[in-house]
Amino acid sequence: MSWALALHGGAGAMARERYECEEAHMRSLLDQGADMLSRGRNAVDVVTEMVEALEASGFHVAGKGAGPNAIGEYELDASIMDGKARAAGAVAALQGFVSPVRIARAVMEDTPHVMLAGKGAAAFARAREFPEIGDPAAYYTPARSGLPGEGKTGVGTVGCVARDLIGNLAAATSTGGTKGKLPGRVGDSPIIGAGCWADKRVAISCTGLGEFFIRANVAADVSARIAYAKQSLAEAAQGALDDMVKLGGDGGLIAVDAQCNIATPFTSPGMKRAWATSAGIKEVKTFR
Ligand code: ASP
Repeated sequence: MSWALALHGGAGAMARERYECEEAHMRSLLDQGADMLSRGRNAVDVVTEMVEALEASGFHVAGKGAGPNAIGEYELDASIMDGKARAAGAVAALQGFVSPVRIARAVMEDTPHVMLAGKGAAAFARAREFPEIGDPAAYYTPARSGLPGEGKTGVGTVGCVARDLIGNLAAATSTGGTKGKLPGRVGDSPIIGAGCWADKRVAISCTGLGEFFIRANVAADVSARIAYAKQSLAEAAQGALDDMVKLGGDGGLIAVDAQCNIATPFTSPGMKRAWATSAGIKEVKTFR
């Protein structure tokens, strides 16, 4: 009866910056997620709740902490994947809602589609009465907007991967995207296979410069390396990242496999992350 859980708050952490509040919040989420998993909650529920809490925290460039695009609008991306059925849902360039990951989950569970974008995604969310943010200028409070660091790089996607007691895996990713992006720009976070993936082998959530993660199909590549090249989780996660770096990108990922192994490699100076397992491991870290 084992479980494993990992969270991230983005690969935008800057050297010499301190992340105590973010780390304290992740530690409390880790406890909450560990409690849910040890009581038998399923992986999909756990990743949904963890990402929803990360979105609501305002500590990362997702949900409440999202930054504006080049014309001052807030367009958010999110996705979720259930490894058991390889079911998936996503929203892209969504405006006006508190929890993009919740809406991605509704796309997965309640529609025949995988991704809804822009106005269609908003109409779907409104019809289902998902909580709206009201005035964007009042709602969004990028936690570090006044500081150097994430305000500069604009990289702070959130994500969660989990392996539940009966061995099912799930992943979820949510983001405000990269700083100053063009209106309509969609990154890797809502693209199944690029910024999010789960199957029976492994669950992955990515963060970094999304264009490169899309071009390298990073999340799905981790699973392919395990399946076809028989790599370990650590080798597969690092190998998929290295391939993305060859294109000129930068970032990281969190991954958990069916055997409860966890990998959290990154190529950026830091990545806010936390992980725990039923074997008693519990770590919260931003740098190496
Ligand atoms: N991957 C995200 C994007 O390109 C950014 C991030 O990880 O913070 O939209």
